[in-house]
Amino acid sequence: MPDKPIALISTPWPLYSRPSVQLATLKSFLQQEHPGLVVDARHFYLSAAAAVGYRTYHGISKRTWLAESVYAAMLYPERIDEIRKLFYRSAKGSAEMPKVDFTRLVDRLSAVSDQFIASIAWKRYGLIGFSVCLCQLTSTLYFIRRIKTTAPSVPVVIGGSFLAGESISPLLQVFPQIDFGIHGEGERPLSRLVKGLQNASQPAEIDPIVGVVSGHTPSAQPAARSQLEDLADLPPPDFDDYFQLLETFAPAQRFFPTLGVEMSRGCWWQKAAANTPGTGCAFCNLNLQWEGYRSKQPQQVVREIEDLTQRHQTLSVAFVDNLIPLKTAAPVFEQLARSGKDYRLFCEIRAGTYRSLLEKMKRAGVIDLQIGIEALSTRLLAKLNKGITAIENLQIMKLCEELDLVNSSNLILGFPGSDRQDVEETLHSLEYALPFRPMRAVEFWLGLGSPVWRYPNSFGLQAVFNHPNWSILLPSAAAKQIPLMIQAYRGDRTIQKKRWKPVRKKVAEWKKNYEALRCSSNAAPILSYRDGKDFLIIRQRRPNAEPISHRLVGASRQIYLFCEQPRSLVDILKEFPSFDEGQVRSFLAMMVDKKLAFSEHRHYLSLAIPAHPSSTASRYHSPD
Ligand code: SF4
Repeated sequence: MPDKPIALISTPWPLYSRPSVQLATLKSFLQQEHPGLVVDARHFYLSAAAAVGYRTYHGISKRTWLAESVYAAMLYPERIDEIRKLFYRSAKGSAEMPKVDFTRLVDRLSAVSDQFIASIAWKRYGLIGFSVCLCQLTSTLYFIRRIKTTAPSVPVVIGGSFLAGESISPLLQVFPQIDFGIHGEGERPLSRLVKGLQNASQPAEIDPIVGVVSGHTPSAQPAARSQLEDLADLPPPDFDDYFQLLETFAPAQRFFPTLGVEMSRGCWWQKAAANTPGTGCAFCNLNLQWEGYRSKQPQQVVREIEDLTQRHQTLSVAFVDNLIPLKTAAPVFEQLARSGKDYRLFCEIRAGTYRSLLEKMKRAGVIDLQIGIEALSTRLLAKLNKGITAIENLQIMKLCEELDLVNSSNLILGFPGSDRQDVEETLHSLEYALPFRPMRAVEFWLGLGSPVWRYPNSFGLQAVFNHPNWSILLPSAAAKQIPLMIQAYRGDRTIQKKRWKPVRKKVAEWKKNYEALRCSSNAAPILSYRDGKDFLIIRQRRPNAEPISHRLVGASRQIYLFCEQPRSLVDILKEFPSFDEGQVRSFLAMMVDKKLAFSEHRHYLSLAIPAHPSSTASRYHSPD
């Protein structure tokens, strides 16, 4: 295939408002490694979003079964009745999903997809690559099938986070239209595949490539991977194709996209669990693509952001890292803040992130962030191997409230093996979390490759298997033979559903009350204080009731401010040696009783935030 261009495609349903960082990075890497090579990055999902309407697209893209249903109906029209039922079932209760007629939606997307496929001369390409992340399996399979009918001899390669190592060989066997699958990170294997194909007359002739599974030479061996040692070798992503496509839209359909930027790959939280096998969070399968953790130098990240936002005249940037690197992040946010530009940034962090980093983020332009809180029971957090406690989770929720950072976090319900005590602890903590932005209650789902999936018996599961919805969407060979990203299990699901019902209800109340109090004309914090320097006035707003005020004078004020971060009783007594232990304890007990402070395992956290944060620095000063 010498000199032939390469097509890289991303099909529905990634976020339409962001160019694909996967395509953009692969494209720039291929062009760096193969000077002169033409790479067309085709963001078909953006065209699809414009065709069905951004609101509808967004609603569908948020739920896997909605998203996978649409193209499954196009792939297997004989199954449409069952698929339609699944679609409507999955749409129930989604606040973000407008009412749509499934048949009309499928017809519309089918017409737009076929029009797109017919508009391109696929035979001119030397290789067509698909990036497959969550929600993109059936749409990718549809495009491959249709493209292969017009260009059967052009090799097709797929890769991406949806494809765990164990899935690739069975996928290639069940769908022989796919020539190659990439295991792990894509850049190096794809580049070598391009080279191999340039030197071969047939895809079947190329020599084995580490990280590439070939459908032409099946192997029972698990595929090895090949990844970059240093992310400094990555050129900046090339988003031009996405912006050129957006330019072709009518003015009413254009918008200012958010650019995806990587600081790192993988996750640095890989601590071994104390009582179960596996490392990292027990439910997590986000890092199957990578081995270890790598991060870019701060200068590289800042340069990319400055150049890309300037080039595309946009100021919204999302760090696509599963977990931003603490060391690199601080100088990145400092430099971005110094630029004086009004960036709007998004990132994902762990609950243990320290205050000074949150302040730097805020100054740089972080408005929204996702925090891996997941639970408000310390016992359950240990089962999840989060390496964090409930009091630390409440602390970061409080910090976000104080710094006005919009924190979207999940509260996992029904984790296998969670017991009554976990639920009780959660309900107890929720009483204290009410002044802070509510979390989203999400049912536990089993991800392929996660520690729970790898060691099911350790978590009380009797069996793990593909989620039964796959049998509705795919033919039985595919649903049975290919291990797919969303799994199901036999275990304690029914018990868990019942057990976590009160939590689900309490979270719904929390959301309602928070919205009523913070989104009203008086949007003051729900629990705040004003400092009179030797006394403190705490104001506690309540739903459907008058606010209560509390005054803390002298030592009480000092102790309350000292506990702005979790403090052990020992530390409190050490800090205030002249105070009687009994008095300190009864003061703290009173604060906890009034829901002005949270306590667990003899640690205390005050919950009120400054009403007028003139400075984000600590208000506490040691007593003389
Ligand atoms: S959930 Fe986040 S912190 Fe936990 S292992 Fe996954 S990426 Fe890492």
